Amino acid sequence: MVIGEKKVVRIDYTLKNASGEVLDTSEGGEPLSYLHGGHQIVPGLERELAGLSAGESKDVVVAPEDGYGQPDPQGIFGVPRAAFPAEAQLSVGETFMGEDDEGGAVPVRVVEVREDLVIVDANHPLAGETLYFHVDVREVRDATLEELTHGHAHGPGEEH
Ligand code: ZN
Repeated sequence: MVIGEKKVVRIDYTLKNASGEVLDTSEGGEPLSYLHGGHQIVPGLERELAGLSAGESKDVVVAPEDGYGQPDPQGIFGVPRAAFPAEAQLSVGETFMGEDDEGGAVPVRVVEVREDLVIVDANHPLAGETLYFHVDVREVRDATLEELTHGHAHGPGEEH
């Protein structure tokens, strides 16, 4: 069975940046399960995994446009200090949950703390990065009807 639309795929993966630093890996944890075609993983990786089967491995280089996109300058903006809880420790690099225009939760990183204003960055931390994946395909199976309806993979025995 090969990876394609409507398949659930289990992979082990390691993600590095251009300097070879490990940014994320499934090593030491559980493999990642995703529904192929469900936009659960970055587009450039999903596309390159199509056609592989269990037991195969692949190195995939994903350009920012096929990964987390380029940083959007409008994603960096000021928030009044008063909008944060009074007890919040505001320091550069801290992450807080903000709200987008539709009321959805978005993580924002503090990039600068001024007296009355906190400058935050809502861009994905990996925006603008070329991503270097090594992937080992562990399992490929047909998605269940429930997984197709939900648009994501379910773990073993997982139900809603
Ligand atoms: Zn579900």
